[in-house]
Amino acid sequence: MSIYLDYSATTPIDPRVFEAMIPYFKEKFANPSSIHSLGRVVREDVDKARATIAKSIGAEPHEIIFTASGSSSDNMAIRSIAEKFADRGKHIITCAIEHKAVLQTCKYLEKHGYEVTYLPVDKEGLVSIEDFKNAIRRDTILVSIMLVNNEIGTIQPIREISDIAKKHQIFVHTDAVQAMGKMKIDVGELGVDLLTFSGHKICAPKGIGVLYVDENLKDDMVPLVFGGSQEFGLRAGTENVPNIIGLAKACEIVMDELDEETAHIRHLRDLFENRILNEIPKTYVNGSREKRVCSVTNIAFKYIEAEALMIYADEICCSTGSACTSESVDASHVLYAIGVDPVDLHGSIRFSFGRFNTEEEINRAVDMIKSSVEKLRAMSPLAQ
Ligand SMILES: *Cc1c(COP(=O)(O)O)cnc(C)c1O
Repeated sequence: MSIYLDYSATTPIDPRVFEAMIPYFKEKFANPSSIHSLGRVVREDVDKARATIAKSIGAEPHEIIFTASGSSSDNMAIRSIAEKFADRGKHIITCAIEHKAVLQTCKYLEKHGYEVTYLPVDKEGLVSIEDFKNAIRRDTILVSIMLVNNEIGTIQPIREISDIAKKHQIFVHTDAVQAMGKMKIDVGELGVDLLTFSGHKICAPKGIGVLYVDENLKDDMVPLVFGGSQEFGLRAGTENVPNIIGLAKACEIVMDELDEETAHIRHLRDLFENRILNEIPKTYVNGSREKRVCSVTNIAFKYIEAEALMIYADEICCSTGSACTSESVDASHVLYAIGVDPVDLHGSIRFSFGRFNTEEEINRAVDMIKSSVEKLRAMSPLAQ
């Protein structure tokens, strides 16, 4: 039976979320833009869902825009600011360990006359405030730094960044996909103008994302999908109602259960990590063990090919590099940026934990990894 330790890649849908969605595939199927009675009922439910989702991040309902995914939200945030404020400047600041949804959007903009500074990170995966200050130019319009990294879990100092950015009239976007559900998120406390999160990383369905846009900025957003007036005219297309309802239920669960849930996940992560480090020689944790969320550990196994270990310990679902780049043999850009020893880049594995994991699974997974590492090292001349 497989043991799922890949919650940072995606999560199973919570049965309570699934339950909440079902009516919207059946009797409540109407288009929320229709003015007949069925449509009006669904419109009301979508409005309620928007309010719940807004509340979960300390926002107002009209500051929540539904998109198709975390990637869509990242794209929309960055491209919209870039297009709208091009006359003020064409410089953007981001960092080396962002998700590809941010990095590739920046690459696209670089081909279209924008300049992008990719801040380096230290060995814990943190950007330096000094580096950020030094990167600011008169033509800087946007800084986009993720709240939590998806491969090593590092929490970035977003509040400090937004305080500085405000003094220079620079807009702040943060990709909070990996932060949602693992720490309290309040857009006011973070001081951000734009924030992204995604349903399928918090036990809601795949194919729904949120872009929070501060109300002062909303009139300045540029639609990237043209058509009907859905989502305040910023993202045309008939709403994915079941997913919106499911996401609201997932956010409600996050609000109600955050403390217990993070304690549960932290306990399992720490149990896993401590057993690996204590019982398997020549292993270490990549990145910071302090300034990170509760749900992830990225472990380097010396003299091991991560892919070989995954084949040997086949029942364990985990990630080498990040899932999005698993087709490529390139080592992770995140581990590279934090300066992991090049010989260990291919022996590093991300394990990420979540709501439905149990202690029994963790212990079974560690036992399997331990025996697989022993077998693999017995075959490796380097490990002798
Ligand atoms: C998963 C992820 C995304 C992309 O979200 P999708 O909904 O899969 O498009 C963006 N950023 C981070 C940090 C992620 O972990």
